[in-house]
Amino acid sequence: MAIIVGGIGASHSPTIGFAKDTHKQADPAWAPIFAGFAEIREWVRRQRIDVIFTIYNDHITSFFFDHYSAFCLGIDDQYVAADEGGGARAVAPARAHAALARHIGAALVADEFDMSFFQGKPLDHGCLSPLGMLADAEGPWQGAIVPLQVGVLQLPIPNARRCYKLGKSLRRAIESYPEDLRVAVMATGGLSHQVHGERAGFLNPAWDEEFLDLLESAPEKLVEMRLAEYALLGGMEGAEVIMWLIMRGALSDKVRCTHRATYAPSVTNIATLVFEDTGTAPDEAANAAYRAHIGYELEGAQNVPGTHPFTLERSLANYRLNDFLHRLIEPAHRARFLGDFDGLAAQFGLSAEECALVKGHQWLEMVRRGVSFFVLEKMAAVLGLSNPELYASFRGETLEEFLATRQQPITYSVAGLVEA
Ligand code: FE
Repeated sequence: MAIIVGGIGASHSPTIGFAKDTHKQADPAWAPIFAGFAEIREWVRRQRIDVIFTIYNDHITSFFFDHYSAFCLGIDDQYVAADEGGGARAVAPARAHAALARHIGAALVADEFDMSFFQGKPLDHGCLSPLGMLADAEGPWQGAIVPLQVGVLQLPIPNARRCYKLGKSLRRAIESYPEDLRVAVMATGGLSHQVHGERAGFLNPAWDEEFLDLLESAPEKLVEMRLAEYALLGGMEGAEVIMWLIMRGALSDKVRCTHRATYAPSVTNIATLVFEDTGTAPDEAANAAYRAHIGYELEGAQNVPGTHPFTLERSLANYRLNDFLHRLIEPAHRARFLGDFDGLAAQFGLSAEECALVKGHQWLEMVRRGVSFFVLEKMAAVLGLSNPELYASFRGETLEEFLATRQQPITYSVAGLVEA
């Protein structure tokens, strides 16, 4: 069984990553930050942590206002560094534990959190700045991550209580994962700072110390606080510390603080923190019951004949092909799909097998392997084929045979009505 060994708290300002990249370890202005992260790094090493569940917020880099969500769990198996305006940092991709991510995603949804999921997106400094500090002077951290992006930059956002509750479910999710893993839950962000408007540069180290005290021994007091109070006490951007309540919620009631430091060299009070978990793991019967709860909604769906549920696992495995076909909503992509298929497929890195499936109109095979029907109907529309031709193909029938099973023999696609 997976166990939660402890929680980590760490600020995530972009300067932390840049300081590492430019070897500022001995620079007096930066040394206290390296000292704090060295404590976390040693703890992670000593505790043989396999996976760090990393709670962060993206800073309008990979997540924009065209679709902004509250709790977005990464389901990818690796993540590259994002370009935030000056080119991506030259760091190796972060390795991820995709199977654990899927289990946690299913658990949180079963516990009625309306999760969203991401893949194919680079991670910005919110995640990679602190994560990189857990590695040696060169190279990435060698363990795996599961990233949770919390949308805290476009109001309204979830409150502190919601974050804490999500942490409680996260604990049960991790503990019920049937693989021996030593997991740490890392919250990033904060502490006090404000970077926009006339109040830019606001700091409140006294409140930050009180926040850390309460986080350790009376988190329920922090859970009671409104976002407006967090903004007043710690700055509007500093209110991202509500993400630390997810970490605290995932730990037992009693924790042992083995490291805590703060340092405010410029506009952010940079904190590093380690809480060791002192609770006991649930027994196997409780974990089995929770796994049954997670699987309850979909139990048996995979056994319905001729039915291929589109799961996170299939979504990840077929992301490249689904992406290639989804882009048929763009006129230029459509034109190249029809006029320069091989060149376009090569540009998107499609395998020979994937090319054969698309070129051969292997509709049912594509559905079986995990291509979404809703990109296939776009492909059909581009090719001038009707949806009923797809349905007939799935069923191994001619179009006429399929239409004979309908009340009216009408043909259509997502591009409009199609004359049979
Ligand atoms: Fe932030």
